[in-house]
Amino acid sequence: MKLKALIIEDNEQNMYMLSFLLEKNNYDVIQAFNGIDGIKAAKERMPDVILLDIQLPEMDGYHVAQELRKRNDLLHIPIVAVTSHAMVGDKEKALESGATGYIEKPIDPDTFIPRMESFFTAELLKRRNDL
Ligand code: MN
Repeated sequence: MKLKALIIEDNEQNMYMLSFLLEKNNYDVIQAFNGIDGIKAAKERMPDVILLDIQLPEMDGYHVAQELRKRNDLLHIPIVAVTSHAMVGDKEKALESGATGYIEKPIDPDTFIPRMESFFTAELLKRRNDL
């Protein structure tokens, strides 16, 4: 079974690029274009990894991460914040909100997947490598 990646991203182009990269690397992709839909998809689909844009309409990515971390059944899922919001303190704020790691936009297609997987638990990495 492929690993499932949930992408929470409101920008169509970024969504397209992230989906393309993940599918090319043998992931099943679940797309959500706002935080509410993202939280709903996380609960219903139990993804193996969540890619989370920070600048989202209405509910921002920090808030989404906080909501996701309130649920025990979602605690083990790595949340990787993906954002161009490269101001001092943003990385810390994302981590304090519950993100496991942080990757800055623009995305480098050559390094994105290994960087994302660097935030996986040993168990998840093993599942990834056994595929
Ligand atoms: Mn955005």
